[in-house]
Amino acid sequence: MPSFVITEKCDGCKALDKTACQYVCPNDLMVLDKEKNKAYNRAVDMCWECYSCVKICPTQAIEVRGYADFMPLGAVVQPMRSTDTIMWSVRFRNKTIKRFKFPIRTTPEGSIVPDAGYDSGSDDLKSPLLRTEPGSLGQDLFSLKRDS
Ligand code: SF4
Ligand code: SF4
Repeated sequence: MPSFVITEKCDGCKALDKTACQYVCPNDLMVLDKEKNKAYNRAVDMCWECYSCVKICPTQAIEVRGYADFMPLGAVVQPMRSTDTIMWSVRFRNKTIKRFKFPIRTTPEGSIVPDAGYDSGSDDLKSPLLRTEPGSLGQDLFSLKRDS
């Protein structure tokens, strides 16, 4: 189910040129109604429910109706970020709240080595190898073949 904005909570990111949800949406779906100073998802059928807007909204004004495999019908899930963790709160229909806290990446932006330093791999599109393979497999392919 796509993201939606709870208008009572949205402050339009205090009328910045570009709101946080506009900035982060990889599909460029979030827009700001400048008259009402409220954001909305302009093409819900194009939303792939990545939760980026939900996570970045400073007022927790965006929700996504989650799939039943991680929350039951009628529940609401909201993330709360800190410098080193993210806590997901799931509020169930009967008002029970469960919280799940996980560590997040703390390395500085731009410090990740692309492909983890492995060679990108083959340019051959017909190759069965995935990017960075065979190096990232940590195995010599010939020995894999020999052992199988
Ligand atoms: S990030 Fe949140 S507060 Fe800012 S415009 Fe979007 S929905 Fe509104
Ligand atoms: S859930 Fe992802 S794709 Fe959907 S509006 Fe938010 S940021 Fe965009």
